[in-house]
Amino acid sequence: MLPSLVLGLLWTAICTAEEHTRLRVLVVGGGIGGLAAGKAAKNHGHSVQIFESRQRHRYGGVNYYLWRNGLNALKELGISTGGLGLALSQVRFFDADGKLIRNISLDASEPPWGVDVPRRALLSRLQRPMRRHIHFGKEVAHIECRPMNVSVTFADGTTAEGDVLIGADGCSSTVRRLIFPEAPQPQEAPATSIGGLIELSPLHRSPPARLLRECCRGRAFDYYLRAGVSMLLIPCAPHTVGWVFCVHEALERRKCPHGALAKCTPMEWKTFVEGQFRGFSVPMVSAVLSYIKWGAAEASLKEAGDAHLATTVSNAPVLWRWYDLPELPSYSSDGAVLIGDAAHCLLPTLGLGANSAIEDAVLLFETLRHHGFGDKAAGVTHRPVSLLPGSARLREGLSAYSELRRPRMATMRLMGRKELNKIYVNGPLGNLLRWALLRCASDEAVFTGNAQLYGGYDGLKQFRQRLTHRKENMRPVE
Ligand SMILES: Cc1cc2nc3c(=O)[nH]c(=O)nc-3n(C[C@H](O)[C@H](O)[C@H](O)COP(=O)(O)OP(=O)(O)OC[C@H]3O[C@@H](n4cnc5c(N)ncnc54)[C@H](O)[C@@H]3O)c2cc1C
Repeated sequence: MLPSLVLGLLWTAICTAEEHTRLRVLVVGGGIGGLAAGKAAKNHGHSVQIFESRQRHRYGGVNYYLWRNGLNALKELGISTGGLGLALSQVRFFDADGKLIRNISLDASEPPWGVDVPRRALLSRLQRPMRRHIHFGKEVAHIECRPMNVSVTFADGTTAEGDVLIGADGCSSTVRRLIFPEAPQPQEAPATSIGGLIELSPLHRSPPARLLRECCRGRAFDYYLRAGVSMLLIPCAPHTVGWVFCVHEALERRKCPHGALAKCTPMEWKTFVEGQFRGFSVPMVSAVLSYIKWGAAEASLKEAGDAHLATTVSNAPVLWRWYDLPELPSYSSDGAVLIGDAAHCLLPTLGLGANSAIEDAVLLFETLRHHGFGDKAAGVTHRPVSLLPGSARLREGLSAYSELRRPRMATMRLMGRKELNKIYVNGPLGNLLRWALLRCASDEAVFTGNAQLYGGYDGLKQFRQRLTHRKENMRPVE
């Protein structure tokens, strides 16, 4: 009787001590979100393994815009952003004739409003510290969440076991389907994009090359708008300009040979895109169009397979349909949690997907730390979580993360949808209203207010305040 009482008291003392437990973290998906989560896990002292279905990383692709929120989150992960891309200094709106309608200067404060980066540069910076933790060629096929641990089976028959599983496998996530079989599927939005990078050799001296280099020096975020279409040009390196052409599906249906760009050949894309700007004197757009290697699109797709968005074929255009994911009722279930596009695939209108995936990684591990899991500075212990009444605590931590994170992501999703209506207006009346708004409205209404809200707005700080508030008002988990 006495020994069991002593043992019981001892056990209670161990379990209630303010100790920080090291987790075995399994991450499915080695994209931006998965790599960021791996780095956050490592920073907090957990052991981590990342499982990526591709055979290797593809250091290609187009450009990403990192807002202040993404830059702050990268800094917190200990990933340097110096020299990663170009900090933009202005946002300009042009009409279809190339006439400047509005120029908004972005203040030069630190961190900058945003930095446009080549995808390959961001991926490579995130991957560098995680190299030894990535397993390639591992496609998740089955997940089992047990009371004390999580087990994953891959398509090649191998398995892995851990305390927590992070699903960072993108918009068409298998983890989401496995842990939430009833979850809604991503929905197609009424728009398509074609885009890529124009990479200039320093030796290029032609007039279009000079114009594009000027664009890089000006560090401007340029929108060329007309009813139903837009062209966005953003420099991301001293000799590299990202371009994105977007078209509303109503115009696609009327003007595309097969009613949709996705059904056309790359040479038909060329005819369609050039046709939209024919007759307008927009030298910058003409310069971009003159550099696109339309014929290389097939080669890029062949080389990269379904990862054509990560193409490494220089100046090749790629096409992507727009999707967003209806809100999920939760991001977590038992010992598994979703982050990045797997949890909240957003429309690309605000350029927030990669930014929020990085934020997710920082905030998830911060929430777990508040629940007693990991922190290098605190000195983590190596007791497996399955020996503690920690499974309930872990589930509570994951669901706290989900509960605190979802409202911000729901706001971002709504804003992205509103932006779609604002930018890709369809029809002459909508177009007239848009020009009126762009000419007369304040900088806040046109750009800086919104950008402050989603990019500059300190998502990390607000989350932390709510996390602390939640902790203070919570009773301990049994
Ligand atoms: C053209 C384009 C431009 C964009 N521009 C911006 C921008 O300017 N700013 C911004 O913030 N966002 C931007 N985004 C959005 C951004 O790319 C995504 O939001 C971001 O990549 C999401 O990261 P993720 O890690 O969640 O998903 P992903 O990047 O999709 O990574 C998922 C990973 O999981 C792997 N995977 C998939 N299934 C499995 C499986 N079953 N098993 C194992 N591994 C699997 C995939 O191979 C992939 O490596 C852009 C997107 C596109 C398409």
